[in-house]
This record gives sequence, C-alpha cells and structure tokens, in this order.
Amino acid sequence: SSAKEDTKADGRVRVAVRLRPMLEAEIKAVGDAPPTIEIEPEVKRVLVKRDHWDSDSYQFDMAFPESTSQRRVFEEFCQPVVESCMKGYNGTVMAYGQTGTGKTHTLGNLGLTDPSQRGIVVRSLDHILATAEADQEGKYEVSLSYLQLYMETVLDLLQPDKDGLNITEDPSTGEVLCSGAKVVVISSTADLINLLSVGENNRVVANQKLNATSSRSHSVLLVTIRRLPADTSSMGLTQSVTATRGKLLLVDLAGSERISKSGSEGQMLEEAKFINLSLTALGKCINALSDSTPGHIPYRDSKLTRILKDSFGGSAKTSLIITVSPLKTHLSETASTLAFGQRAI
Ligand code: ADP
Ligand code: MG
Repeated sequence: SSAKEDTKADGRVRVAVRLRPMLEAEIKAVGDAPPTIEIEPEVKRVLVKRDHWDSDSYQFDMAFPESTSQRRVFEEFCQPVVESCMKGYNGTVMAYGQTGTGKTHTLGNLGLTDPSQRGIVVRSLDHILATAEADQEGKYEVSLSYLQLYMETVLDLLQPDKDGLNITEDPSTGEVLCSGAKVVVISSTADLINLLSVGENNRVVANQKLNATSSRSHSVLLVTIRRLPADTSSMGLTQSVTATRGKLLLVDLAGSERISKSGSEGQMLEEAKFINLSLTALGKCINALSDSTPGHIPYRDSKLTRILKDSFGGSAKTSLIITVSPLKTHLSETASTLAFGQRAI
C-alpha cells in the first residue's frame, strides 16, 4: 500500500480511530469490568458493546488500540500527508472527539519531559526539518501561523491583542488567506516549541478574558513549506528542482460533546451553538468529499471549513483522527463520535 500512499490524493478524507487508555483514577473506579470498546486493528474496526448481546461495529481506514504509541500514529497516519505537503500539495491532519479523549495528547503533546510522548505537531515539524536538512537539491523555508477559532471569530494566538482576522480567498489561485495573521519562519524544533508555548499561553489568557475553556475553541496551526532550488551551479549540476509551496494544517477541534440545552444557558449555550455549526459544516464537507462523484462541497458554511477549503479534499491529503474514551459512562458520546467518523468512509 505504500506505493499507493505516494500517489496523489483522491480527495477522500481518511479516518482513523484512536482509543485512549484508562487513566489511573479510572482504573481504580472501574476495576476489572469488561471493556465496552474493543479495537480490532487488523480489520480496522471498532466494536461498541452496550451489553453482552448488544454491540455495534464501525469501520475505519485505521484503528489504533490504546497501546498504540505516538510514533506509530504519526508514521502510519500522518507522515504521508506531511510528505505530500513537502512536495507542494496542501494537506490537513485533524483530531475530532469528546473533551478528554486525547485530541491534544495526540496532536499537541510537546513531550517536554518524555520525548516519546511527542504528538503529531512536533513529529511533523521534526520530519519536515530533517528532510529539508538532508535535501541536497532544494532549500526550504518553513513558516507557521497559529490561530484559534472561537464563536466564529478567528483569533491570532501569536498576536493576542489583535482583533478577529478576516478569511479571504485569492480569486485566481483559490488560496485561502488569513489577512494579518503573524507568520514566523522556524528553523529548529526548539523554535517550534517556543512558538507553541507562547501561543498556548496566549490561548489561556485569551480564553480567560473570554471566559471560555480551551475545549470550546478550535486551534489551527498553519505550516507553510516552500522549497526552492538550491544553488547547485558551483557543483556543475543543472537545476532540476522547481519551486513548490505546500500548506499543512494541524487542527485540534473543539470538544464534540453535545451540550444539553436544558442544562446550560447564556455563554455556554452560545458556544455550543457555534461549535455545533462548525462541526456540522465539517461533517457535511467530509460527506460530500466521500461521494464517488463529489458535487458541491459546502465550505462556506462556517469559518472552520472556510479556513480548510484549499487544504481539505481535492488534491490535498486529509487525515482525520477520531479519539474515543474507554469508559462505559461515555458510551453514547463515543457512539456519536464513531458515527461522525464512519460517515466519512
Ligand atoms: P482532549 O484534548 O481530547 O480534551 P487530552 O489530550 O487533554 O484530551 O487528554 C485527556 C487526558 O487523557 C490527559 O490527561 C491525557 O494525558 C490523557 N491521554 C489521552 N490520550 C492518551 C494516550 N493515548 N495515552 C496516555 N494518556 C492519554
Ligand atoms: Mg484538548
């Protein structure tokens, strides 16, 4: 399958499910009750066992059990997207799931105390920078912007005092632009980690001001990779490399849990409406892309899907990771998360 992976994307969104392990406190509380969620990695399937006699199964492109390492998730599911972006295509990797199921762990863990726990963001940038370093024929420029989408407003996490940004589209190229977003060139993993830490601090402060929690907003790390021919004239080589530009979006989505209308009011209900709006729009785009003859893709329905437009579907490789909890108490949220991801197949 790896030869196939290298060819151009077919526009379809690839979906993996990842089950997080039980946390220590949960093991204490649950004891050795039989598992309610079972992953069958060989057949890429998830079983949800409501009862001994009542179970549902869901099919994915990949299914990662709780023992799967961060490294494996990156290599098997994300590396093809990153490599395609280095060749000049656009691409997106995003995490979808209930709050507390491991979206941020999977994507954004910086692995500061334990490098084996580094998530997709750090591994992607590491891979890009290492490939750039080893490339004799090309020279690269890697730059980042870091955005937050909260209640249909686009905020720049690297310029916390700035007002909401406008999303525009270059009419001739179709390129999506967030005008005014800060763009920072990075050349090392240390640069990346510094930048993400700054962004994360700004996120906490911004959310305190807005009286929100991080689970109520989407975060979008936008990576632009430019490749230019290296100056090989001194080596007597002809220039075989053409300039390319690829964009990689790494998206940590807001928690997908349904907020009960009766139990919440005011701001929480408002937030829930906006999250529902953008995740519904996302689901519609994913569904439309999975049609054998994709027709109209409703990107315009939300800020999230507008930002994704040039990097989601078409020639862009797109990987969606659905994260789920092992707990029986989360079963109905787990089922609706799995249903969201399964529709994409
Ligand atoms: P989310 O971003 O979806 O709200 P988090 O990434 O914050 O969820 O994860 C919730 C908790 O579960 C954290 O304490 C995190 O460290 C832990 N966790 C999530 N996924 C895993 C995993 N695959 N292995 C170990 N711990 C995990
Ligand atoms: Mg999170």
